[in-house]
This record gives sequence, structure tokens and C-alpha cells, in this order.
Amino acid sequence: MVLWIGIDDTDSKDGGCTTYLGYRTICRLIKEGYDIIGYPRLVRLNPNIPWKTRGNGAISFRIGRGRGKKLLVGEIEGIKIFSYSEGSENGDRIDISEIKTVIEDEIKTSAFLSDENTNSGYVIAKKRPNRDVYERCVKEVVSLDDIKDLLDKLEAEYKGYKNCRGLIGATAAISWEPVDRTFELITYRYKERWGTKREIDESSVIEMDKTVDSTFDNYDYENNKVMIAPNSPCPVLFGIRGEYPDDLIRAKEMVRSEEYMGWLLFETNQGTDDHIRRRKIAEIKPYESVVVEGVVEREPYTIKGGHVIFRLKDETSSIDCTAYEPTKNFRDVIKELRVGDVLEVYGGVREEPFTINIEKIRIKRLVEIKEKIENPLCDNCKVHMKSMGRGKGYRCRKCGARKSESEAKFQTIERKLKEGFYEVPPCARRHLSKPIKRIFIRF
Ligand code: ATP
Repeated sequence: MVLWIGIDDTDSKDGGCTTYLGYRTICRLIKEGYDIIGYPRLVRLNPNIPWKTRGNGAISFRIGRGRGKKLLVGEIEGIKIFSYSEGSENGDRIDISEIKTVIEDEIKTSAFLSDENTNSGYVIAKKRPNRDVYERCVKEVVSLDDIKDLLDKLEAEYKGYKNCRGLIGATAAISWEPVDRTFELITYRYKERWGTKREIDESSVIEMDKTVDSTFDNYDYENNKVMIAPNSPCPVLFGIRGEYPDDLIRAKEMVRSEEYMGWLLFETNQGTDDHIRRRKIAEIKPYESVVVEGVVEREPYTIKGGHVIFRLKDETSSIDCTAYEPTKNFRDVIKELRVGDVLEVYGGVREEPFTINIEKIRIKRLVEIKEKIENPLCDNCKVHMKSMGRGKGYRCRKCGARKSESEAKFQTIERKLKEGFYEVPPCARRHLSKPIKRIFIRF
């Protein structure tokens, strides 16, 4: 028998991390004699949910009695943690009440339940909820009642704390069936260090980034920022993202840092664009993430705070698209858009103001922009004619002859943009957003 375990909503802005709670739980269950099957999973859900703490991440893993290939998935205090490629289905002793005790104990020790926004939940399921639960949780707002009904139908064991909202993420994390996927290797700090400045050698991160090509978002070269370390006081030292577990283990070895307690590898939906839905503008709803194709209707302008906005239209309606201040130099790209440019905009939808928070754009066609360099010449008098006002054409001052607007001399202005993708820098990237590097490079 193989059991699925999902856990969510255990951290707060002041500390904690659901992946760390998962790490501790996994280590304890292995000590109790259980095996982990496959890779533990870190599943990001709808990034536009207003009640998320930070990255809206939940975790899941499978336990049972392992068979098949052994996989190195982590380490604690120098001891290697292995999982198995398969679980044995027949007659194994699995004591659900023992597993529940371990999880509840860990929640009691590590979850920040005193924070009003922390509403932990865990699920233990023999039967998996099907993938559309994940699909809805990554793209929409899902109700807790629907999730509880489903868990009851599946005869799952579950427990919610406080308002029980964590059950939503815990269930979604179990139901994720990877189509596209990446991995993240997370290292955990010694407890004495939590909340102190992380010691990570910047040059070693750059070196690792340049050497292990199948990793991504390690360093923000435009803003000179190490991206593998979080800013919160949580137990994570750093997390490296990439395509392959082995490369991540190699990458970890290259990072020079303070000593850490251990690490764990997660299979994840980060960097997959799983949250994105193709929409016509009139269909767009708040709290979803979309890709929408349209034409620039109103040229970009900057508002207080440095946010840059333009308006996009399609045959159904129009909507504002915003590159917020934290997207830094990406705003310079957006400022170069002109009325008539055809593009796809990817991003999350805010309710108030109703706008797409841009994650990336794909320019499909740039309009030709012409600038007038000379008024037309009068055919009779051979002198430049005078404009009669915007859109009203030209007239010769001497003989009164007239010419239309289009008879002036124009030159084409060179556009600073090219057709193709442009994305926010790594420092502004959402966990789920697919980096352009992943769109084009097949490793
Ligand atoms: P991280 O661990 O990355 O910091 P987070 O702390 O930002 O994640 P949580 O603390 O897990 O996020 O809070 C998100 C809450 O929203 C959880 O209770 C989760 O169950 C719930 N949730 C997640 N996705 C949805 C959804 N699509 N609809 C409704 N509730 C959701």
C-alpha cells in the first residue's frame, strides 16, 4: 500500500516553511521504518490568492514500502536520505495512526498556528483526487467545502486547523500529476542561525549559475542579486531550481555558504506556466492568470510609484496591463510599446485596480512608426508648404495650392524592440512563471 500525504499552510511571515515541516516529517517517518516513494513534491498554487503568506506553496509525498531503484533525495546531519522509484502494493504494515501522530507532532512543533493567517491542514489518502483539483487550485479560487466533500468521497484521513484552509493546498498538492515539471533542491539552516543574515558567497553562486546550465534563476545579473536565498527569517538557507536532480546536487556543491543541517530535493511545478489560461479579454476574471493576445490601444505611461501601464484590446474588449515597479528594467521594454503593436501578455489579474500584472510578453508584430521630417514642396513655387493644423493638410503661402498630410516627407523610426519574448527579471519572477530559458532550451 502506498499513501499520499499532503500538507499546507504552516508558515507565517515571521518564520517557518512548509517544506521544512515536510523535511522533518519525512526524516521522522523514515526513522519509523517507512520509505518515501518518488520525489517529495513542492506544488505552487494560484499566485493571486489574497490570503497566501508568500509563494502559495504546498507539499506532498508518498510513503510505503519501497521497491525498485533507490534515489538520493536529501541529507540530514551527513546522513543520506533515499527514496524508491516504486512502492510495494501488497500487504505491508502501514499504521495510519502512527503516521498521523508524526504529522500532528510536527505541525505542533513547527507550524506557526499562533499567526492569525496560518490555517494548517494535512491529508492522508489512499486514493488520489484526480488532476483537475490541482488544475482548479492553480488557476482559480476553490472553496473549502468542495474540497472537504471530495476528501470524504475519497475516504481520506484529514485534519484542518483553525479555519482549515490548508486542506485546499494539501489536497491540490496530492492531486498534481506532473506534465511539465522542474526540481528544487532546498538546504536548511541550523536552528541557531534562523533569522540571522545568510552567509552565501555571491561569486560562487554566479560561478554555479554559469557552470550548471540546466539550473535557472540563480542570480539576477541586471539587479546584482543572489536569487537562491529567501529574504524571510525561515529555515531555508538556499534553494536551487533546475531541470535535473543530479545537476542540482552538483550545483549545491559549488555554492560556498555557512554550514547547513541538510537538504531535500523536491519535484515541482515551478517555472511551468501551469497557472496560465488563454483568454479573450472579455472573459478575464480577477485572481486568475492569463495569456491574452491583443493590440496596444493606449501607449504606455508611468504613474506614481513608477508603475508603467498600457492598454491592450482584442475583438471582445480592452484591459490595462501593468509592469509594476519591482519589475525594474522590464519597465523600459514596456515603455517602448506603441499603439498598434500586436502582442501576447502573460500575467496575473488583480481585482482592484482591474489590471494584468505582467509576467512576460511576446511581441508578435511591431507597427512601423514614421516620423515627419519635411513638409511637402509646392509644385508651382518650389517652397515648403505650411501645415493648416493637425490632420488638415498643407497650403502654399504664396499661391494657395494644397496638399494632403501623406504628401509630406517621412522617415521610418527604428524600433528598440524586436519580435519575441521579454520577461521580468529573476528578482520579480513568480514561482510558477516559465522563464524564457525554459521555453527555448531543451536540455
Ligand atoms: P509558502 O509556503 O510558499 O510561503 P504561502 O505561505 O504563501 O506558501 P500558504 O500559507 O500555504 O501560502 O497560504 C495559502 C492558503 O491558501 C492555504 O491555506 C491554501 O490551502 C489556500 N489556497 C491555495 N490555493 C487556493 C485556491 N486556489 N483557492 C483557495 N484557497 C487556496
